[in-house]
Amino acid sequence: MSFSFDVSYHARKTMFESCNVLLIEDSRSIASVLSHRLAVELGTTVTHCASTKALREAIVGRGRKYDIAVVDLNLPDSPNGEVLDMAVEQGIPVIVFTATFNLDMRERIVERGVSDYIIKDNDRALDMVVASVERVLSNRAVRILVVDDVASARRHLVELLTLQQFSVLEASTGTQALDMLRQHSDISLVLTDYNMPDMDGYELTRRIRRSYDSSQLRVIGISSSSDRLLSASFLKAGACDFVYRPYVAEELQCRINQNIETLSQIRQLREAAFNDYLTGLYNRRYFFEQGPVLIDNCLGRHTPCSVAMLDIDHFKKLNDTYGHEGGDRVLKAVALKLKSLLSEPACLLGRLGGEEFGLLLPGVDSAEATVICEKIRHALSEIKVAVDDKDVAITVSIGIAEVGGRESFDNYLNAADQFLYLAKRYGRNQVYSDRSIVAEPVSRASGS
Ligand code: GH3
Ligand code: MG
Ligand code: MG
Repeated sequence: MSFSFDVSYHARKTMFESCNVLLIEDSRSIASVLSHRLAVELGTTVTHCASTKALREAIVGRGRKYDIAVVDLNLPDSPNGEVLDMAVEQGIPVIVFTATFNLDMRERIVERGVSDYIIKDNDRALDMVVASVERVLSNRAVRILVVDDVASARRHLVELLTLQQFSVLEASTGTQALDMLRQHSDISLVLTDYNMPDMDGYELTRRIRRSYDSSQLRVIGISSSSDRLLSASFLKAGACDFVYRPYVAEELQCRINQNIETLSQIRQLREAAFNDYLTGLYNRRYFFEQGPVLIDNCLGRHTPCSVAMLDIDHFKKLNDTYGHEGGDRVLKAVALKLKSLLSEPACLLGRLGGEEFGLLLPGVDSAEATVICEKIRHALSEIKVAVDDKDVAITVSIGIAEVGGRESFDNYLNAADQFLYLAKRYGRNQVYSDRSIVAEPVSRASGS
């Protein structure tokens, strides 16, 4: 996956491709704009119903599962929000989109247990609907841990989060919460009470922060305490937010959403910083940051490790013949093939620059690395990249160095680069390592 903002837009589209949105709206203009935007921006399938009759047909007996419904409360044949009841009865998560709004209306909507409501009172209302649909659909992949020793208080929070479609875990003590965090590395947010018998929420937050920083895990404190300093204590201990009970559901919901959004933005920025925009592979920065860690692990466990540098042959000529765009297309195709060939999660693969790629193979000595790289070289020599109605073929040269002892990361790469130089010098389209030197006849190694 690649992570420039443009690319994440496409990633988002594929993420929601299998989602079905039910749009209940009698205004033709709003329905057509929303249908278009949900399909184009999120990639969802949209079923539009303009009346109660159409809704009944869409949900009854069709066996179709809707992931979410956007419901306009008042249709001509549903003056009292009957369509909302129908959607809720079907167990479909609902976002209400309404022009009329007052406190009574709010009570009615909240009572029905909707995921969100948006008021048609400003020119950003449609943006808000699209954002809300995206958020609720995304929440299904977000895990939240609720920590509270009082079962009823916990249940109340779990219900609120479940309506938002979050995946929710529960703990009744601080110790249990810490255990669950160790067991479930995908928890994004901890919502913790203050007063608990074994460990209070403040202490829990302090302990969480010893192992997880706020770019990995968000913490929100929540309490009915009358101590006005408690919020400051929580925030100083590392909580990202604090809410006093009794809370307004919408406020808590917004604070949770903002925290999840912040986490997702941090992840996107991190991924953008570590990924090559053209190929989506890890970039040089990540390779140089993660490479030494992997090598250190291998040295610590006394297992072998090999570093390889791969360079496309005569790439400049290819650029001159087919233009920079043609060259880019070849780079993408090579990256895709490399990714599929090196699916082993322990391997590190990155684009180091231009048409040069770095491979780090933990647990692999240079003999085995030569076999792997020979397969890669062969597979890449077989790909055909369509450029200007032509099928362009390429070859690559690869240099391999086995990690012999503790040295600087640059040294390992320089060694691989030396072997890459030999592979180029002696004809390209081949793999070179210390083993090749031993196996090579003297005449060739000394010839030019
Ligand atoms: P050799 O076989 O010795 O490796 O020769 P080469 O032509 O492949 O290598 P050289 O280093 O002379 O040329 C690499 C070219 O790659 C020069 C540069 O313009 C081009 N290049 C670098 N980055 C990119 C890129 O992102 N896209 C494209 N299309 N070309 C790039
Ligand atoms: Mg080259
Ligand atoms: Mg080069």
